[in-house]
Amino acid sequence: MISLVNVNKYYQNDEERLHVLKNINLAIAPGEMIAIMGPSGSGKSTLINLLGFIDKQFEGQYLFEGKVLLTSSDEILSKIRNQTVGFVFQNFSLIENNTVFENVELPLLYNGYKFHQTKEKVMAVLKKVGLSDKADKHLKQLSGGQQQRVAIARALINQPKFLIADEPTGALDSHTSEEIMKLFVDLNTQDQVTIILVTHNPDMVPYCSRLISIRDGEIIEDKALRP
Ligand code: ADP
Ligand code: ADP
Repeated sequence: MISLVNVNKYYQNDEERLHVLKNINLAIAPGEMIAIMGPSGSGKSTLINLLGFIDKQFEGQYLFEGKVLLTSSDEILSKIRNQTVGFVFQNFSLIENNTVFENVELPLLYNGYKFHQTKEKVMAVLKKVGLSDKADKHLKQLSGGQQQRVAIARALINQPKFLIADEPTGALDSHTSEEIMKLFVDLNTQDQVTIILVTHNPDMVPYCSRLISIRDGEIIEDKALRP
């Protein structure tokens, strides 16, 4: 599904040219659930921004479903992004003053759906994350774990080809973190959602099917964990 070929990424800081991704070769198949680990500053965010069509300033090739992305305009790129990737963040990035329903509905409205066309889709995805009874609650009435479920529902609403989760359990206690990882595993094994997640927590790794470790911009380890 995804293939990076000889990818290099540089940042220009004042005098200095930082080489932040070094000759990355990476193939990701549909149905994988990948953990990316590495120390702070090793290039994890840079890599997922690239994978998620946020960053197009790099050297080398990004093939998505066999096609080279001709990243001509930001407009085209953001359209591809909306149709292809769901994002989940450490701090949920939800709208605090809106209801659960409104938060999950928003990406549908962005993609051109009308208000009366959204209910079925929103309720289906809320069911999937175990929040059927919370649709009309305001976000503030929910626990951290429930808020992250809302964020996951929002990420899934446009039926993306894959999910990128940036430290999705970073703000959660260990029990809640495990619940969220089990939800990811369900989505991965039952619904065949491809998941790429960055984590600092080694306890989250065994839930994944593959571990990629990065250090100083290089992949230093890439191994299968579960079939
Ligand atoms: P990680 O997510 O693993 O913490 P990052 O991908 O954020 O690592 O950063 C990798 C390196 O690139 C770091 O040295 C960081 O300071 C640098 N970096 C990240 N973003 C930028 C940017 N926008 N401009 C300049 N340097 C950056
Ligand atoms: P993370 O928590 O994922 O490691 P960081 O704190 O490294 O993220 O970076 C947060 C944001 O700041 C990212 O968008 C990254 O690209 C940007 N950034 C990181 N380092 C630099 C830098 N040296 N100069 C400019 N932007 C940076």
